[in-house]
Amino acid sequence: MSKYWSPAINQLTPYVPGEQPKVDNLIKLNTNENPYPPSPRAADALNNYPKDRLRLYCDPEATALKNALAEHFELDYNNIFVGNGSDEVLALAFMAFFRQDKPILLPETTYSFYDVYCKLYDIEYRQLPLTGQFEINLEEYQQANGGIIFANPNAPTGRLLPLEQIETLLQKNNGSVVIVDEAYIDFGGHSAVELVNKYDNVLVIQTFSKSRSLAGLRVGYALGHPELIEGLERVKNSFNSYPLDSLAIAGAVAALQDDEYFRETTNKIIECREWTVKALGQLGFDVIPSATNFVFTCHRTIAGADLMAHLRSQGVLVRHFSKPGIDNFLRITIGTYDEMQALIDALKLYPAIGE
Ligand SMILES: *Cc1c(COP(=O)(O)O)cnc(C)c1O
Repeated sequence: MSKYWSPAINQLTPYVPGEQPKVDNLIKLNTNENPYPPSPRAADALNNYPKDRLRLYCDPEATALKNALAEHFELDYNNIFVGNGSDEVLALAFMAFFRQDKPILLPETTYSFYDVYCKLYDIEYRQLPLTGQFEINLEEYQQANGGIIFANPNAPTGRLLPLEQIETLLQKNNGSVVIVDEAYIDFGGHSAVELVNKYDNVLVIQTFSKSRSLAGLRVGYALGHPELIEGLERVKNSFNSYPLDSLAIAGAVAALQDDEYFRETTNKIIECREWTVKALGQLGFDVIPSATNFVFTCHRTIAGADLMAHLRSQGVLVRHFSKPGIDNFLRITIGTYDEMQALIDALKLYPAIGE
């Protein structure tokens, strides 16, 4: 609290990202980063960028990146919006579409930035519970609303919704914008991007942070009907003309063009996820089926917080949410095989698991 802050700022509870440790040699399985380096082509693009050009402002439209994305997704230039990470794209989208008379709808358990944005912008929202199997029940989203947002696959559960259900939702909500946050779609899901030319109320948001190994470069994008994209541009151009710097644009374009590397690394992560699910099962964990680069898992007898503390003492960072209903779960990012083996070895050192 401060007497200098605007009253609304005194009421905020900001989002807390997973820890970025200041020391090396921890095994970092807590923020869903990719364990593999970005495409060598992205590295070359950054190395070879003519540094004297940094003297100039970057392209406010990020034209090269929008063109590359349009080509990649077989969409038009005016179907594409880009921003400083998908978090920024999400923040601008909440501002652009969700400040309505009716509450927006979102899952009770999902990416915890969504309700932070609602509070920041004073957007009324209603959180709908997941099923007992941690699934989003889209049938409940057919009530009056000022917009809908969910992640698919969802975070932190990892569960994927079939595209047919999303299409039905779009048909039944043609008066409101439906945002599908696809941060993890490349790890086994079917993207709603194919609905963009069919429905003017769907906005698909993706990121270079997870499947493209570029979390530190901060590049995200939205795909949707030109009317939605124009709404986003209006907000963006009322806030920051240059959210993407010249290096980010160059690196992202190069990464997008390296499809072979992309497929190779995402497949490795998917295979390692299946290995990890089996290994955790053998240690007494229940694992929710995941279509992402993480697993959401709970031990049958040991509390999540105890396991997180134990792993931390062994140099392995995982994410734990102290939230009723999921506080026995750990969210564990899929790293390399060596890292996942180290996780399993560390878990076996927990007395009740190892014996
Ligand atoms: C990681 C993540 C994001 C944010 O990604 P950035 O592009 O790095 O800002 C957005 N949504 C979900 C569900 C995520 O897990």
